[in-house]
Parts: sequence; C-alpha cells; structure tokens
Amino acid sequence: MTISAFREARAIEVGESVALSLAETIWPTRCAICDRPGEVLCAECAESLPFIDQWLACPRCGAPWGLRQCTECNPFSLGEVGSIRLPYEGCVCAVAFDDRSARIPRAHKDAGERRLAHTMAYYIACAIPPEWLPAVVAYIPATPAARLRRGFDHGRSLAGRVAELLDLPCERLLEPPAALDQRGLARVSRFQNLSQALRARRKTLLAPAQRVILVEVTKQLGGTTEKVEPEKKSSSFKVRVSIDDLNIRKGPGTNYAKTGKYTGKGVFTITEVKSGKGSDAGWGKLKSGVGWISLDYAKRI
Ligand SMILES: [Zn+2]
Ligand SMILES: [Zn+2]
Repeated sequence: MTISAFREARAIEVGESVALSLAETIWPTRCAICDRPGEVLCAECAESLPFIDQWLACPRCGAPWGLRQCTECNPFSLGEVGSIRLPYEGCVCAVAFDDRSARIPRAHKDAGERRLAHTMAYYIACAIPPEWLPAVVAYIPATPAARLRRGFDHGRSLAGRVAELLDLPCERLLEPPAALDQRGLARVSRFQNLSQALRARRKTLLAPAQRVILVEVTKQLGGTTEKVEPEKKSSSFKVRVSIDDLNIRKGPGTNYAKTGKYTGKGVFTITEVKSGKGSDAGWGKLKSGVGWISLDYAKRI
C-alpha cells in the first residue's frame, strides 16, 4: 500500500467512525440491556429475559413460583402492609424484575426510548389470560411534572400498546398519583406510598361488572392495584402458636433483645406486623404489649 492509499483508507475509516458517532448522537439505537448498537433490545438479550412461567405463577398476585404456596400474598405478608386480602381478581407478570430486565422500563421511561413500549406491550399482552377478556385497559397516569420532564406519559404509552394488541379500549380511569416514585423505598413504604397515591377519577363511568386490566411496570409483585381500594379494616388478627419455647423479643427482629419470656402454646392476638431480621413471615406485636414474636412459628387463624 502506498502512503497516499494508506492515507485515503485511513481517512475513510476516520470519516466512517465520525459519521457513525454522529448518527449515534442523533439517533442512538442501542440495546437497552447490553448497550450494543443496532436494536432497542437485541435478540440475545430478549431471549435471556427472566420470563415467568404462567403455569407456575401465583394466579392471585403473579409471583413467579406462587401457584401452590405464595410467599407474596399470604396473610402475613399482606398483614404487614395492613391489608386483609388482595382487592383484585388476579395479577400476571410477564417478566421477573432483575438487574437486566429493569433496564428496559428504565430506558423507556427515563431515557425516552419509546420504541420499547412495543416490546414490553407484546410481552404483557402474551401473559394476559384469555379469560380476562373483554376488559378496559387502564394505567397509572404520569404526574404533570413527570410528563413534562420525560416529554410523554410512559404508563399511557405502554397501556395503549397493550390495548391495541388485544383490541381493547384504553381509558384513563385513575388520577395521576400524588407521589409515586417507588424507587429506593422499602417494601412497606412502597405499599403505604401507593395506598395514599392512587384514586379513581371522579368522572369514571364503567358498566357494572366491567373488568379493568391495569397495566403497570412494578418491582413489587402482589401489591400494585391493591391501593386503588385499600382495605380499611383493622390489621389485628389471631395466631396459634404450637411450640412451647417461642421467644418474645423487645422489638421486631433477632437483633432486639429477648424478654426472657415465651408465649407458650396458645392463641394470641397480633396488633402490628413488621419485617425484621430473622423471620421470613415478619414479626408480630403481641396485643398484651409484652413484645414481638416471629410469625414463622405462628399460624394465622
Ligand atoms: Zn442486548
Ligand atoms: Zn401470590
């Protein structure tokens, strides 16, 4: 290669890379997960998503392995957030939330990659059981501030696509939430945040027995629509303890000191439930005020 030919080839190379980076700046199509240029979600990443097997999922709250016994919507985990039951018929989740799948709604919502609404809507539409149809598709509207910041209403864009795919109407049935940034909040705070945030629109008119499908991207299964009609009943309930030596602690967790007392076998009233160290089902506060017990060793009655 002569020097001039080399220079020419180099110039083309440089020119191409400049053109590419320019195109990338103007129209940056990159995979939301692996960042590889080309598609909004590359085939490899799409295939490796943690899709939920609907045959094994909880039909009530959509949790991935909850068909037989669900850890998300059992009486204890609901009691923890002050609810007695889920106020909806069912919930399905298309893809589990993990570090990789979370990048898709983030790129859609925060980075404005609106083409991802098609992809997400497709997965959601496929997961919706046929017996839910016909229905009206609803969404949680973005707050005016969020809409202004992002330039579009991400919830509406997603629900609209789902409705289109299933040939259903999409309606604005809810008011924009007062504060619905759930990121960085602990489980209980998320529930509380939501319960205060969602309200049905005053002008909403639905035919009796009209089914509504609420489309939402959420990290927390089993809780999203609970907030539309929060249960106002008292959260106190009775449990049966069948072991002699269940420790009573001064606070909700094994990091709190033992009181030195045991409940003994019997039925006890729990007035408050909190999550804490050392118990999967949470910690229950005894009505007598002596302390807290691990609900792993108590059966709700
Ligand atoms: Zn990728
Ligand atoms: Zn469940």
